[in-house]
Amino acid sequence: QPFRSADIRQAFIDFFISKQHTPVSSSSLIPHNDPTLLFTNAGMNQFKETFLGMEPRDYTRAVTSQKCVRAGGKHNDLDNVGYTARHHTFFEMLGNFSFGDYFKQAGIEYIWEFLTSDKWLAIDKDRLYVTIYETDDEAFDIWNKNIGIPSERIIRIGDNKGAPYASDNFWTMGDTGPCGPCTEVFYDHGADIEGGLPGTPEEDGDRYIEIWNCVFMQFNRQKDGTLLPLPAPSVDTGMGLERISAIMQGVHGNYEIDLFTHLMDAAAEILEIDNEQQSSLKVIADHIRAVSFLIADGVMPSNEGRGYVLRRVIRRAVRHGNKLGADSDFFYKMVAPLVAEMGTAYPELKDKQSVIENAIQKEEAQFAKTLAQGLRLLASELEGLQDGDTLSGEAAFKLYDTYGFPLDLTADITRERGIAIDETEFDEHMQAQRERARDAGKFDVDYSSVIQVETPTTFIGYEQLEEDGVTV
Ligand code: ATP
Ligand code: MG
Ligand code: MG
Ligand code: MG
Repeated sequence: QPFRSADIRQAFIDFFISKQHTPVSSSSLIPHNDPTLLFTNAGMNQFKETFLGMEPRDYTRAVTSQKCVRAGGKHNDLDNVGYTARHHTFFEMLGNFSFGDYFKQAGIEYIWEFLTSDKWLAIDKDRLYVTIYETDDEAFDIWNKNIGIPSERIIRIGDNKGAPYASDNFWTMGDTGPCGPCTEVFYDHGADIEGGLPGTPEEDGDRYIEIWNCVFMQFNRQKDGTLLPLPAPSVDTGMGLERISAIMQGVHGNYEIDLFTHLMDAAAEILEIDNEQQSSLKVIADHIRAVSFLIADGVMPSNEGRGYVLRRVIRRAVRHGNKLGADSDFFYKMVAPLVAEMGTAYPELKDKQSVIENAIQKEEAQFAKTLAQGLRLLASELEGLQDGDTLSGEAAFKLYDTYGFPLDLTADITRERGIAIDETEFDEHMQAQRERARDAGKFDVDYSSVIQVETPTTFIGYEQLEEDGVTV
């Protein structure tokens, strides 16, 4: 069967090897020595220092298939999962890199050759659109004159600060670090799907899907926003494996590709249901990947930092299972089908399978103790509220504090009914609890005499990370 995800991953690497790129393994999801980053969110992360000229390598061209997680930090797609056809919390980013070697021209030409030449993916050119940075006339000329893309298919986009979904053609890894103008390739999945071209108000739909982003790395952004030039103009590209697989497999959404249909079939079997179209199944299939890969790379569920993000993802998945009728542990059972699907490409999954299963099972069992009760409380709080209403911050805090519902979990549930949460009020309760905890700490109490009292779990995750300079 042609164009399995695994074949596309390999074709990408082979193509760039044929263009003198050195294949480099994916780095860990836990960024190496980079406190500014929550999780690895792009292929370029492991080359950050090389772009900055601080870590020379013995090659100037590289190709990777990088594990990425976008469930927090500057790039956060957690809330898109189950809602769009194209976002995952964990995905594989195929990327080619030039460290002061080729720049705009070859960067663009390689992309076009791989996507459209008969020898490689042979994608229909008439379905492709490109965006460029608004003032990048050089990129315009390469697309237009060298490649032959008509000017009406080349869209100029600026840097849209603030708007979460607005396209933005100035790519930055985080608040600081390597960055530069970019050019992106979009694929038109057809007029029967809702959505507009990038740069239009309908751009967030799933009709025109961004498949490949090519960043012309030129600057190092400083904390105060100043852009300092990099030692050498470089190229950093990223293409989502799942998105390109969807195109090559003739389906619209990422969740319809081989990899995901197998996982969703497994989830349906474990949960003993048959409706394949439920968005909760997508969420479960998505989250088992993020969770398993994070644990394989050494993150464990906890109340702070990375571990808390992991815990939140697990709890969301467990809640979706509950919604589909799961009455006992189920989520850890998804690890085996995941290993079957991805264990060859990522042996760490196979090696750590039992560690992953045990960690998830333990976490599920713990949450199961309060989930049903919390859901009952929430149901009664939601009684009488309707689409457009707001749940009180006090209720959300009680769910958090007593039943272990992270705020985003509660929000994931209320969103299904179009109900928002009073986050200001929630924050006030959180703050008050922190102060109480701090005051309590001032007294010299022998806690060993009161060990039967459960210590309140104070959520300090974000604060801690912020103090460490991590953007969450
Ligand atoms: P989008 O605008 O669709 O959210 P992006 O511009 O945030 O994507 P980039 O940071 O440019 O994405 O990442 C490079 C490529 O990685 C994208 O072109 C896309 O193919 C893929 N990608 C990005 N985010 C995701 C995700 N959450 N799930 C799957 N693939 C993704
Ligand atoms: Mg995005
Ligand atoms: Mg984009
Ligand atoms: Mg992009």
